[in-house]
Amino acid sequence: MLRPIVLYPDPRLKMKSKTVTQFGTELKALAVEMTETMREANGVGLAAVQIGELIRMMVMDVNYDKEDRGEALAMCNPEIVNEEGTETIEEGCLSIPDVREDVERSFKVKVKYQDLDGKSQVSEYEGLLARCVLHEIDHMEGRLFIQKVPAVKRLFLKKQLDELKKSYQETVRL
Ligand code: ZN
Repeated sequence: MLRPIVLYPDPRLKMKSKTVTQFGTELKALAVEMTETMREANGVGLAAVQIGELIRMMVMDVNYDKEDRGEALAMCNPEIVNEEGTETIEEGCLSIPDVREDVERSFKVKVKYQDLDGKSQVSEYEGLLARCVLHEIDHMEGRLFIQKVPAVKRLFLKKQLDELKKSYQETVRL
């Protein structure tokens, strides 16, 4: 089932997500919904808060560059244990439609997380997938990528963000 994506400036996007403690069937069903929602929206990653679930869980399309993409990876309670290098590339967010900006992030990360059965795992990612993990962890902390854009550049984003705020208010009123 596809779930509506929570859009900027919804206050939930500023909230801190809670640690996942319940593993099992319900969590797996949620991971499937998140994966379907992410794929439908052409995203590489999605944090649970983006569908209104304030838990520290994310899905990531680890095979985004392959034709047969198969299952996406679900990570619960991800924590960065090591990061290396930096890279600045243009980034976007499914919760902030049509806004794209250059963001500097680590190029390589080592992440510790729990899988959908609660088992501890460690993985290393680089490039776009490292960026995705960092972006989704930011969501779990209530942070958005636009906060990482330098103030001078953020002025240029203001108009776009104001338009999103306006359409959000219009939607809520209906
Ligand atoms: Zn995002």
